Amino acid sequence: MNDLRDVFPRDRYNDILISNVHPPDWDNPEPARCYNLMVIGAGTTGLVTAAGAAGLGAKVALIERHLFGGDCLNVGCVPSKCIIRSSRISADLRHANLFGIRVPGGAEVDFPAVMERMRRLRARISEHDSARRFKELGVDVFLGEGRFSGSDSLEVAGKSLRFKKAVIATGTRPVYPAIEGIAEAGFLTNETVFSLTERPRRLAVIGGGPIGCELAQAFRRLGSEVTLFHNASHILNREDADAAEMIQQSFLRDGIRLVLNCETKRVETKNGEKVIHITCGGKADTVVVDEILAGAGRTPNVEGLNLERAGVQYDKKQGVKVNDRLQTSNPAIYAAGDICLGYKFTHMADATARIVIQNALFGGRKRLSTLTVPWCTYTDPEIAHVGIYEQDAGEKGIEVETYIRPFGEVDRAVIDGEEEGFVKVHVKKGTDRILGATIVARHAGEMISEVTLAISGNLGLRVLSNVIHPYPTQAEAIKQVADAYNRTRLSPFIKGLFTRWLAWKRG
Ligand SMILES: Cc1cc2nc3c(=O)[nH]c(=O)nc-3n(C[C@H](O)[C@H](O)[C@H](O)COP(=O)(O)OP(=O)(O)OC[C@H]3O[C@@H](n4cnc5c(N)ncnc54)[C@H](O)[C@@H]3O)c2cc1C
Repeated sequence: MNDLRDVFPRDRYNDILISNVHPPDWDNPEPARCYNLMVIGAGTTGLVTAAGAAGLGAKVALIERHLFGGDCLNVGCVPSKCIIRSSRISADLRHANLFGIRVPGGAEVDFPAVMERMRRLRARISEHDSARRFKELGVDVFLGEGRFSGSDSLEVAGKSLRFKKAVIATGTRPVYPAIEGIAEAGFLTNETVFSLTERPRRLAVIGGGPIGCELAQAFRRLGSEVTLFHNASHILNREDADAAEMIQQSFLRDGIRLVLNCETKRVETKNGEKVIHITCGGKADTVVVDEILAGAGRTPNVEGLNLERAGVQYDKKQGVKVNDRLQTSNPAIYAAGDICLGYKFTHMADATARIVIQNALFGGRKRLSTLTVPWCTYTDPEIAHVGIYEQDAGEKGIEVETYIRPFGEVDRAVIDGEEEGFVKVHVKKGTDRILGATIVARHAGEMISEVTLAISGNLGLRVLSNVIHPYPTQAEAIKQVADAYNRTRLSPFIKGLFTRWLAWKRG
């Protein structure tokens, strides 16, 4: 997506967006003699690195070939969470009668208005990521494609830049599905789906991972008939199995058709419709839709950077190769964010940018492997996770004990009508040391940070059980899990001693 015509429709909100993230009248500056830090890519990783380094006094160049803000602002987190918010309102209104609220005639989705709201909010948020703001922070901003010309030099828009240190932050793009006929039939990706102004009546979503699931549910709740294709026997199959099952059931209740473990043979266009030919359990079938959204897999933006010239090793599927300090095979060049990580999240883009600033500019020895990494899939309910899964523990030979609190036993969740979900915490057997946790809840992403803090700060369940949580809140479930752990410490022997001592006190 390197053409501003991709930013569609050209309404006043997208005009504001463009004026912030790729000002058409931008003049690249004259390059400095040498930069302390050269940042290639102005997605979250590049922006955090550039702002942080410039704030510490470094001379920084930031190079972006398309849109400041990268995927997250333009075609990822921000637009997806905007339409998810509208889709939740739609779902809530459908169930309003359960709360004693009547919606005469039922709720109606105004899809163009949903998308316009998204564009309005994205334009507003884009102020933070604007090229102008970075110039004001003292960063030399170059619009154009960056390409290494040596181990300490790079070319952009006809200018040659020299650097002491560089960071590759060029991110990823969607994988195009290898399905016969799909290119001719046409399909959407995250780079084009947020440009829709009309709701697809029938939508096929390819990929039952986080991106596919979030968008499948959002479009279903906004009124599309959605068929979700996933090449495994369960959606979100990398998540905790109980958690994934809850989401799958929620999808079925929403009326999403699931096509699991089937082979997608080819796509053809007939009378303006897209006909998807599949084979399921040896039987041929077809699914007819108006649009197809490809939401499976990301591929790293390594091409065109001339990485060979810079002595930077990479893999076309995994991206730039880095060590635990995020240094590439050229010690002066680092990489951070999606381009080099398995964890493709904005908060990891941010966290790794901070590591790079310390290691590249100040000789720091910060390590990627020391980070505690949470994540959240924003379905309804959400799944948030941190640390290990029970299955990983088994494979690594670590014995764990698991404590679970279903939200059906948490007063606030009952009051809110949000009982679906649980808090599940794994501790090292015989201790209160938290190794991992999964939360399924409407706002699981807001709750997981308490457990992440506990893991990062080496605070066990005993500490969490002493944390006073306001009543009634859904986060009390975390304390209740900790209380469940505490109860296991009361062995029959200790309980017997307590009983006898208390009886003696009664006299
Ligand atoms: C639909 C969707 C929803 C998502 N939702 C979430 C979410 O809710 N939470 C979350 O944590 N994460 C989410 N993500 C992931 C998140 O968007 C990414 O992890 C994050 O954007 C990575 O940031 P980055 O800076 O590493 O890469 P990017 O955002 O991809 O930025 C890389 C930048 O480099 C530029 N570039 C590439 N090559 C060159 C070159 N040669 N010269 C100059 N510039 C170049 C690109 O134009 C781009 O602007 C979502 C992703 C998608 C697709």
